[in-house]
Amino acid sequence: MSFCGMTEFEPEDALSNELLVGWLKTRGVTIDEIALLVLDAQKPYLPDITLAECREAILRVLDKREVQNTIVTGLALDALAEKGLLPEPLGTLLRRDDGLYGVDEMVAISIANIYGSIGVTNFGYLDKVKPGVIERINGCKENSCNTFLDDIVAAIAAAAAARIAHNAVCPPQTPQKPA
Ligand code: MG
Repeated sequence: MSFCGMTEFEPEDALSNELLVGWLKTRGVTIDEIALLVLDAQKPYLPDITLAECREAILRVLDKREVQNTIVTGLALDALAEKGLLPEPLGTLLRRDDGLYGVDEMVAISIANIYGSIGVTNFGYLDKVKPGVIERINGCKENSCNTFLDDIVAAIAAAAAARIAHNAVCPPQTPQKPA
């Protein structure tokens, strides 16, 4: 069986950005939609930040092997659930996007966790508020199952926003005069 047309893979090869971006697009999400989430998250702290910088941060997050593995796993499970190819009760749990399942959040948070507490708190916010593309893809409708996708998208955005925050140059501190 192939996933999104991929038939051969050498385990030592990292997955290319192009492949990952293509897979996300196949599941209905573009990098620019994720970049808009990053822009909204960082704009209050970095008013001059651009969409291109947010897009670049996302691509650097996608370079990480553990991120790639999480995306492949989550997206494949959603696709298999749609096709009715998962054993029960897993297939039904995923197609219902059962609120008590929780594995989708736990898998996705491993992406946010790479960027520490900022990544994790960003993820919590996006998971709760569900802005932009996250709201659009939330849940499973008719023949589509996005149980893992919404969390993975939130986690990629959270990680990219945290990456930008970590790399931001802090303004020089003004020495305080003794009182
Ligand atoms: Mg979910």
